Amino acid sequence: MTDLDSFAARLKTLTGGRASTPRVKDGVMTLALEVGGLTADQRDAIAAAIREGALTVPGVSDVRIAMTAERKELRIIAVASGKGGVGKSTLSANLAVALKRLGHRVGLVDADIYGPSQARLMASEDQKPQARDKHLIPVQSPVGVPMLSMAHLVEPGRALAWRGPMVSNALGQLIDAEWGDVETLIVDMPPGTGDIQLSMIQKHKPAGVVIVSTPQDLALIDATRAVNLFEQAHVPLIGLVENMAGYACPHCGEVSDPFGAGGAEAAAKEMGMAFLGRIPLAIDIRRRSDAGDPPAAGDDVHGQAFRAIAEKIAEYVAR
Ligand code: ADP
Repeated sequence: MTDLDSFAARLKTLTGGRASTPRVKDGVMTLALEVGGLTADQRDAIAAAIREGALTVPGVSDVRIAMTAERKELRIIAVASGKGGVGKSTLSANLAVALKRLGHRVGLVDADIYGPSQARLMASEDQKPQARDKHLIPVQSPVGVPMLSMAHLVEPGRALAWRGPMVSNALGQLIDAEWGDVETLIVDMPPGTGDIQLSMIQKHKPAGVVIVSTPQDLALIDATRAVNLFEQAHVPLIGLVENMAGYACPHCGEVSDPFGAGGAEAAAKEMGMAFLGRIPLAIDIRRRSDAGDPPAAGDDVHGQAFRAIAEKIAEYVAR
């Protein structure tokens, strides 16, 4: 560990995670300090302690601290697929619920502007977000996950005929909302790999992406396209989730594999990314999703399957 690394580690404790990673150039250390909610005395005391510590790092002769009133940036986890209908929205909703149950401060954005489904999946269709100082205030879903979807803003059933820039604006509004103490934002991406996806990624810089695919080869080819898109934009790939993997018989619970097993796992390996787990095709998942009762809120086998994937994402986030 270099002196700068160990100072960065000390900085974390000293500021309660409010400081950015320090950089040193030509003897000058620069870092940003998030001071929202601190009194002037607290702020000055922290800045003085940072200065004192920084000047003990060999090679540092000056310190510049940029104070920002903004909260720390949200950690965006994008959930994406190459095409629609593979269960991207179902996975996003259930990951948000499972992460919340694991103790994370998590919010959910439905970036699928043309086909928003999160309001239904999370039973929050009847809520309308308020706005404060030009920022939207997320609605609360019954399971306690704050969320925003285009479905909260437009009349149900009204088709959107927007062009790219309008979609990007709307997306920006959903993401730059007043998320309060939310740290991790699950973003249900629009399906596909076009301009809307690319500009969203470039503008909002997700900390990582989870790719969803069904076991069929064709869907996997689409998934590969999504992987390429995120790789191009230098977004870390958290891993691949196989959805509708095998059919869980509603009567006996036995899982059969009409599309063959293991395709997604092998594909993940080939693409050099982690395999996060599989969710079976189960009528109960569809029924509960339609009823706005996410399976991840419970502890049955499906709840456990979503939880296991959420645990892997939590591990990734903690790294
Ligand atoms: P996408 O967001 O990729 O378009 P959705 O999450 O909307 O896909 O899922 C498409 C349909 O498939 C929905 O009706 C959903 O309830 C259903 N579905 C998704 N995953 C499963 C699953 N594992 N088992 C059964 N039905 C599922």
